[in-house]
Amino acid sequence: MTLQEEITRRRTFAVIAHPDAGKTTLTEKLLLFGGAIHVAGAVKSNKIKKGATSDFMEIERQRGISVATSVMGFEYQGRKINILDTPGHEDFAEDTYRTLTAVDSVIIVIDGAKGVESQTRKLMDVCRMRQTPVIVFVNKLDRPCKDPFDLLDEIEKELRIRVRPLSFPISSGDTFKGVYNIYEKNLTLFTSDERQTADASTVEINDLASPELDEYISERYAKQLREDTELVEGVYDAFDRDAYLRAELAPVFFGSAVNNFGVKELLECFIRIAPSPRPAPTETRIVEPAEEKMTGFVFKIHANMDPNHRDRIAFLKICSGTFERNKNFLHVRSGKQMKFSSPTAFMAEKKSIIDFAYPGDIVGLHDTGNFKIGDTFTEGEKLKFTGIPSFAPEQFRYIENADPLKFKQLAKGIDQLMDEGVAQLFTSSLNGRKIIGTVGALQFEVIEYRLAHEYNAACRWEPISIYKACWIESDNAEQLADFKRRKHTNMAIDKHGRDVFLADTSYALALAQENFKDIRFYFTSEF
Ligand code: GDP
Repeated sequence: MTLQEEITRRRTFAVIAHPDAGKTTLTEKLLLFGGAIHVAGAVKSNKIKKGATSDFMEIERQRGISVATSVMGFEYQGRKINILDTPGHEDFAEDTYRTLTAVDSVIIVIDGAKGVESQTRKLMDVCRMRQTPVIVFVNKLDRPCKDPFDLLDEIEKELRIRVRPLSFPISSGDTFKGVYNIYEKNLTLFTSDERQTADASTVEINDLASPELDEYISERYAKQLREDTELVEGVYDAFDRDAYLRAELAPVFFGSAVNNFGVKELLECFIRIAPSPRPAPTETRIVEPAEEKMTGFVFKIHANMDPNHRDRIAFLKICSGTFERNKNFLHVRSGKQMKFSSPTAFMAEKKSIIDFAYPGDIVGLHDTGNFKIGDTFTEGEKLKFTGIPSFAPEQFRYIENADPLKFKQLAKGIDQLMDEGVAQLFTSSLNGRKIIGTVGALQFEVIEYRLAHEYNAACRWEPISIYKACWIESDNAEQLADFKRRKHTNMAIDKHGRDVFLADTSYALALAQENFKDIRFYFTSEF
């Protein structure tokens, strides 16, 4: 197969959702279709159970599981599909944000009874920022759900994207009849005896006016479906794939993941419309996947929690060319040539050593502590991929050394954990103290635990009241200097020496934005 053919057949994506919407269930059904797994239950939910947030074993277990299922690759109808898993717990949202930098599209799962939830909105913000094409799957139609038109309006409004239903449900809950596939013009019937089987029965209905329809789903629901589809065609423009690829339009499917209902339709449409690996921006130029020379970037680093083997796996997303085992590549940041004798690929639950990988693929590289998130590998060109930002943290604590004899260990531990992207480090301009900023509170426990177990260091937390950290920049040097002078007590620098404003409250942030018009406030580290 040529490089271009390998690229064209690849689909690299993530399933994202608010916890409990059905991400794990849907992922598992997709893998079942791909023949990657054969029994349900093979994909473990990687979420930390409620109330277990201080249970370190649970954290460890979660990390262990998520390494195994970080990337799930399988073949389906000649396509190579790579599903990137994302952590279930909200406190690990930044991991999810970063994973989104390595995908070419996403499927968003929404609970049909609950509609759009907080985490869905945040994840969509990241997709919007990166113009990632999204398909929406409205799940749990076997339960009483909101009215489909209300749901579509809610998705459009809350996720700020135009929608286009490609299937339409007939009722929900106890009276759920099935889903009409607008794209294929056929009806898939949901009947109680089919709840447990993989294949629901599908009937071709080329003409919705046909009395056959009334036989299948009763007069009442047939009438409803006719009205609904008429309304759909009246209200929504025809599906425009280019608008989807530009991330302006989200096709919407309805179904029930746990019943494996509507999943096949979703997958078949997905492989048809979802993008193959897309060009990737760097600081200097755009890299096209079909370029002969290999390029890729590290978007995730996973530590081994075993203190005796402090090795890590760096996840490399291939952006162009062919990755080869035992071939020298340039690690751009250090300027060193490196080769990898046992790069791994991930097929469902299995990890195996591979000889080649192509754009869209994720390769696991063994790392002894040299890599950082965002590191670029090439065949010699000094490229730096962009679009792999840190996100403004929302939780903050001072970190102090609790064991004066272990100062070095602590410094090294903090350094490496920050490279892994566990949290962000800021240094206060006021007193030089170190502040750790995270997206979720659980991260502090993870850091403390890992510092103790992997680095033999002890830390202590002290409270600091900060609402949000944002990066600031201005062309007006005078105003910037004035701002930094006045806000001296709230200023810090990040690891790269950039100015960061630590706003005490949302009011203080709004006021600062109001009073210092020439200063730009950024909520991601790339601007
Ligand atoms: P995640 O947190 O998004 O990964 O959600 P899970 O896949 O773990 O699902 C959360 C719960 O919803 C589980 O108990 C699932 O069995 C259940 N669930 C998933 N899909 C459906 C569905 O289509 N209908 C119903 N009734 N329950 C579902």
